[in-house]
Amino acid sequence: MKKKLGLPAQIAIALVAGIVFGLICYFANIASFTTNYLKPFGTIFVNLLKFIVVPVVLLSMIDGIVSMGDMKKVGSVGWKTVAYFLCTTAIACVIGLVIANIFNGANLFPVLQNAEGAEWTGKTSQNFMDTLVAIFPDNMWKSFSSADMLQVIVISLLLGGGILAAGEKAKMAKDLVSTLYAVIEKVMTFIISLSPIGVFTMMTWVVATQGPKILGSLGLVLLCAYIAYILHAVLVYSASASAFARINPLKFFKGAAPAMIFAFTSTSSAATLPVSEECASDLGAEKSISSFVLPLGATINMDGTAIYQCVATIFLATCSGIHLTLGQMVIIVITATLASIGTAGTPGAGMIMLAMVLTAMGIDVNMIMIIYGVDRLFDMGRTCLNVTGDISCSLCVTQWEKKRLQK
Ligand code: ASP
Repeated sequence: MKKKLGLPAQIAIALVAGIVFGLICYFANIASFTTNYLKPFGTIFVNLLKFIVVPVVLLSMIDGIVSMGDMKKVGSVGWKTVAYFLCTTAIACVIGLVIANIFNGANLFPVLQNAEGAEWTGKTSQNFMDTLVAIFPDNMWKSFSSADMLQVIVISLLLGGGILAAGEKAKMAKDLVSTLYAVIEKVMTFIISLSPIGVFTMMTWVVATQGPKILGSLGLVLLCAYIAYILHAVLVYSASASAFARINPLKFFKGAAPAMIFAFTSTSSAATLPVSEECASDLGAEKSISSFVLPLGATINMDGTAIYQCVATIFLATCSGIHLTLGQMVIIVITATLASIGTAGTPGAGMIMLAMVLTAMGIDVNMIMIIYGVDRLFDMGRTCLNVTGDISCSLCVTQWEKKRLQK
């Protein structure tokens, strides 16, 4: 019996086939064929992504908050861990935005045909107070049906907080959220399993309509993300492991390497968990701490994902001819931080949450098609970084706890 090709291999084949077919259509001048007959399949795929994004954000955020509720049990370890996660994720966003803006400033990101002069259509206005007011929903269903992601996040925070506050009485709500989340995760896996079709049709269409130049742009945006990933790993993780846990950077990366390689190839922080646990304990993390920090990290600490979302947002905004202001960048930092928290530790999940960031920023979600074909390449790097962050956190918290107990 022939073995079925795995999803990564299928995606790689679809990517190459899409590029080749797209180039043929471009040079044969039949780009309109791809627009009329291939792009619609890509659109179906993007519609499915759009359909899943509200339930995923809602349920995964509530689930995340409820799981943090157990933090009371772990007390100071919990707060230190979450503080580390939040600070490093915010720094990751800033690094991502700075590098992306350098690339953008050097005119390395393209403005696509027909996109010049596109209007900023974000729901967020320039006025800070209006922006603030617009984040708070007056009608939950309206927020869901218009996929107003900032409002959906606020609703998730409120409902998650409510479940925690209600304690034992909310047990059913807590269980309901985790059951529904399990269902939605399955649906998400199904949608992701359609990726090869999405990748082929989108890649063909993008290359056929934009020409070979777009391949260079995709290479550049990948390079941009990887520079940011590496900078973050060196500047934040190895530096914090060396400053707080007294582990020298070389030793840190050598110790974390097995998990990093596993994450790079599997593109799932959740699946990498057993390897991360081993690496963390080899590097000196205390078992009781890493067994709390690592699973929580694999669920909510996704700095690679945050960087990717920032870089991709700037890239796609430029492609659409939208120029983002400093204020809008601040909103990207906040949404990408929250989006990365809501990202599941599974392959391709970060891309679904990118749809949320784009929606929140008023950028057409269909633009995802442009980079979707190479998402796997982004995902490898971002998952690798995500896992490294969890290991570094477990080492720092181990050290902080030791110091606290010595006092
Ligand atoms: N694949 C990533 C992870 O598991 C999530 C993502 O797609 O960004 O960490």
